[in-house]
Amino acid sequence: MAIPDEMDAMVVAAPGRPLERRRLPVPRPGPDEVLLEVAACGVCRTDLHLVDGELPAAPLPVIPGHEIVGRVVVVGNHVADLTVGDRVGVPWLAWTCGECRYCRMGRENLCDNARFTGYTVNGGYAQYAVADRRYCFRLPASFGDLEAAPLLCAGLIGYRSLRMCGDGVERLGLYGFGAAAHIVAQLAVHRGSEVFAFTRPGDAAAQGFARSLGAVWAGDSTTPPPLPLDAAIVFAPVGALVPAALRAVAPGGVVVCGGIHMSDIPGFPYHILWEERVVRSVANLTRQDGEELLAVAPAAGVRPTVQCFQLEQANEALERLRRGQIEGAAVLVME
Ligand SMILES: [Zn+2]
Ligand SMILES: [Zn+2]
Repeated sequence: MAIPDEMDAMVVAAPGRPLERRRLPVPRPGPDEVLLEVAACGVCRTDLHLVDGELPAAPLPVIPGHEIVGRVVVVGNHVADLTVGDRVGVPWLAWTCGECRYCRMGRENLCDNARFTGYTVNGGYAQYAVADRRYCFRLPASFGDLEAAPLLCAGLIGYRSLRMCGDGVERLGLYGFGAAAHIVAQLAVHRGSEVFAFTRPGDAAAQGFARSLGAVWAGDSTTPPPLPLDAAIVFAPVGALVPAALRAVAPGGVVVCGGIHMSDIPGFPYHILWEERVVRSVANLTRQDGEELLAVAPAAGVRPTVQCFQLEQANEALERLRRGQIEGAAVLVME
């Protein structure tokens, strides 16, 4: 296959400004990397934080996008486990050092030297992307390119967040019913949990969507659930939801913050944390999370709902995400 010299890409050039459409050289893979022809790339809330300048020390310009589904078109000299034509998915975690304390402990998600797709290395809002072979996941054949894309961050971070809720969660709250929550809800319902979905006040469409995916209750985030919860995951980047979730969980309950950025958490009385309630965050992912999710998702019958946009419509996709107008996940499709 002939690889062109140049490609279309959407680029974060400066914080607070829309993405710029640019013609850029098609990147060349290093010895441990592959070049992918991008088929689809999911649009994540994190991309919006990057565009808004809410992520520290982003080396701009950068091509965002960390839910890449693509096909291998060139393999680096040291790559033996992938060949031209393989379909792979590339997640947020792009590279780890393998040597720091965290890597040695099996906690590569916290690697001191980690690089991140679409943040500190170029991502998938482009026709081509390079990826480290170690961070290319083989994708289940039961998911098409579009459906597979949201699994790579929304699904993965959602899965890790769900894991951090612990075992035996009978009643799970989800605050913010976007891309991640709509996948987690399906996983949780499949394992027998009752899902309680909290949305922006008055968002009847999102509440109906949550019920259609098996939620036993859906309501405004300002409303307490009808029953105390065993765990809650806060996906919305709204700090005020943390004390709301703490008030909603029973003694011993866990509140997991799944996002990379959140507005400040307001002060709250100790008694809502008392009785062994826990607040924690989830950062990034490990390859093990990816392998587990990609095995569990087909078995659980997960079906991501996607809204498709062309690459040059990336700004529109981000704006609609900002306004809460995406049902399920937004995905960019390359021509
Ligand atoms: Zn490391
Ligand atoms: Zn993401």
